[in-house]
Amino acid sequence: MNNQIENKDWHCKSIEEIWADCESNKDGLEQQQVEERRIIFGENKLLEAKSKTILAILLDQFKDFMIWVLIIAALISWWTGEHIDAAIILFVVILNGILGTIQEAKAESALEALKNMAAPFARVIRAGTMQRIPAAEIVPGDIIALEAGDSVPADLRLIECASLKIEESALTGESVPVEKNLAVKLERSAVLGDRLNMAFTGSNVTYGRGMGIAVDTGMNTQMGKIAQQLTQTPQETTPLQKKLNQISNVLSVGVLIIAALIFAVGILGGREAYDMFFIAVSLSVAAIPEGMVAVVTIVLAMGMSRMADRGAIIRRLPAVETLGSTQIICSDKTGTLTQNKMTVTSIHSENTELLYQAMGFCNDAQLGAESQLIGDPTETALIDYLLKEKLWDEGSIKSRQRDGEIPFDSERKRSTVAIKQADGMFRVFVKGAPDQMLSLCELQDNALTEILQQNDKMTEQALRVLAFAYKDSLDFNAASVTETESGLNFLGLVGMIDPPRDEAKAAMETCQIAGLTAIMITGDHKGTALAIAKDLGMLRDDRIAVSGAELEEMKEEEFEQKLTQIGVYARVAPEHKSRIVRAWQKRGKIVAMTGDGVNDAPALKAADIGVGMGITGTDVSKGASDMVLTDDNFATIVAAVEEGRRIFDNIHKTVRFLLSSNAGEVIAILVATIAGWNLLAPIHILWINLVTDTFPALALGVEPAEADVMRRPPRDSKIPFFTKKEWGRILVVGLVEAILTLAAFVIGNFYYESASLGTTMAFVTLAMTQLFAAIGFQSERSSVFTIKFKEHNKLWLAFLLSTALQLSVVLVPTLRDIFKLSPLNIAHFGIIALLAVLMLIFIETQKFVARRTAD
Ligand code: ADP
Ligand code: MG
Repeated sequence: MNNQIENKDWHCKSIEEIWADCESNKDGLEQQQVEERRIIFGENKLLEAKSKTILAILLDQFKDFMIWVLIIAALISWWTGEHIDAAIILFVVILNGILGTIQEAKAESALEALKNMAAPFARVIRAGTMQRIPAAEIVPGDIIALEAGDSVPADLRLIECASLKIEESALTGESVPVEKNLAVKLERSAVLGDRLNMAFTGSNVTYGRGMGIAVDTGMNTQMGKIAQQLTQTPQETTPLQKKLNQISNVLSVGVLIIAALIFAVGILGGREAYDMFFIAVSLSVAAIPEGMVAVVTIVLAMGMSRMADRGAIIRRLPAVETLGSTQIICSDKTGTLTQNKMTVTSIHSENTELLYQAMGFCNDAQLGAESQLIGDPTETALIDYLLKEKLWDEGSIKSRQRDGEIPFDSERKRSTVAIKQADGMFRVFVKGAPDQMLSLCELQDNALTEILQQNDKMTEQALRVLAFAYKDSLDFNAASVTETESGLNFLGLVGMIDPPRDEAKAAMETCQIAGLTAIMITGDHKGTALAIAKDLGMLRDDRIAVSGAELEEMKEEEFEQKLTQIGVYARVAPEHKSRIVRAWQKRGKIVAMTGDGVNDAPALKAADIGVGMGITGTDVSKGASDMVLTDDNFATIVAAVEEGRRIFDNIHKTVRFLLSSNAGEVIAILVATIAGWNLLAPIHILWINLVTDTFPALALGVEPAEADVMRRPPRDSKIPFFTKKEWGRILVVGLVEAILTLAAFVIGNFYYESASLGTTMAFVTLAMTQLFAAIGFQSERSSVFTIKFKEHNKLWLAFLLSTALQLSVVLVPTLRDIFKLSPLNIAHFGIIALLAVLMLIFIETQKFVARRTAD
């Protein structure tokens, strides 16, 4: 097969022609062919728009207004002969640019890595067996299996269709799913939407099942043609980033106005324009929190990588923040709270011979390589049982044929197949939830009562129960479901156990302590759901279980009133999930909701955090989620909430630290200017910002979680990022920093009678009070002396590093000269140390009082 095929009219060729064109057959490609084709056609991937280059990121750093103020300051310094000052300012500008670039590049690559983790899989037939492979490895000629919920992984010519419906809006704009049909005869000119015997990359299977031959892959697909014209989608900003941007902008404008005022007042008061200009620049440098937004971005991105390490892949950045304030977790039962390892443990049947037939035939599970079972665990459990008990052998499982089917969906909760017999009759097997099945069977009253009793007994033991039935009929029509699935002969009940996950119990405990409400939502029987919920300890405080049917009966008012009592929803259909989400949201709660099926997509979108399942989830449900669990595990959601809380705490601490530092600088400069003192030059402020805004701010951003993160209730999302009280505390800390700095200046300037010494002492004191404040901010509630040093030592490392940098400027003679500082003796250092430690004592006292007054 070559890649030169110009004529791509796959839709108007016969299937024989397609087989020939693709040099493939019903058994699929051999490994050899696959490898050859991979070389010719490359990976089955849409080329994405290039992510930002390092150079682009670097240039972005210079879009900042602050940078231009500094560059102008450097030019003026140079012009007035202060060449060293100019050089230092430029040096700091460049260093800032480089640091910013490194941070942003790191954040970008973390996001890039996450994208790759969410890559989809596909089921293909190769060398006669079914395999699950990354969709990127598909080559033309591969045979691909499709089922409800799959994203179509390549352009396919369909060879098998069972009620197959595909939603193709990405290509055609038409959101109503198209029912595919093999029998159509198509003109060459048929538009994409009319090509009923084809399935296209990027469309979604919403119903049924099918098979197709991959005819085009990667950029050769119809989607590839469109993708070529796509431009990069912009990175989403989170509500927090937006809010901080706002704070930052308001501060910048405010400061510039103040700086201009001071400049004007100074000039009118007869001071030198040059001096006043530099005071105004110092003030701007001091007050504008230029690094804040960058630090927050990197904290979010690094938080995302940490979440990924714990099994939660974030698909949308804002979810990182929302997770921290999650209050309600609605979780599926099967696979999330349970292991999804089903084992048949009990069978009740009068006619076991036919029941075993039904178990094998009415079943989509496949035998893959090395006798591995591929498929829905409910169905693989049945085959597993048949093979273990030697009721079927592998050969007969592999050679099963069917002549008609009505697929399972979570609405109907049953599935049907038909097999044509030798006499031309169709034998129809149906399996599904007993409550849905029994009304379709012809049963005597006493027989029915007995079956129901049997069913109750099994569900009480936490078994998932399937009922089986059959009938023989003259013809089979998948389109008339009601007629086909009626007048059935009951065959028996099969019960299977799916044990709860071990971690789920502990996670429930954590939820309880952390003020999170966990709710089970399942398509399974109420009895089964209740038994498992009890086992997991989910039914505290007299919480009750409600079935989908009962929910349907309830008026909206009644439901909203009962809402907080309901801990388990059983036998629900996917549309009920959206209703549950909405009801909680109406109460102002932040809701996480899991989902795996196609029909779960609306509820996943409606939830504040839609949680997709990495293993069992359909592509469609993953696409609708904010977060995907790599292990489908409930405990992972709780872990992600913990990470979310940690990240929020850290951003809060970091921003608090940066703003209080800036406040300290501004207040000190303002007071000094009014008093007529030359406190600090712009390069001093620039240096302090460099030393304190980088290492300690980043260290605060990556702090491990505090001991009590999961022991306090969720943060109320309606409370602003900083309350009035918190703004007050930020200002007070800034005020104390300023007082201590001015005290150092006064001691140097008036007691030791040296203006230069005053500046030097103020310079070191300001930096050190900020570093001690960072230590104090390590926890917003607890005392630093109760924090486990071993786990929380990064901040101390940053503290030491920054202290060393700061001291090097006053201790190394050349640097000291460049910064126009005086040498310090032991006494001077002693005074500085005393003043700086006072800062920490102040913050600790502030926290102590807050703890005492319990706020
Ligand atoms: P959940 O995933 O929430 O446990 P499902 O929607 O998968 O629930 O299943 C609901 C019910 O449908 C099950 O209790 C079972 O009786 C029935 N069922 C599940 N899987 C199948 C299947 N493959 N074929 C027929 N019936 C099924
Ligand atoms: Mg299920």
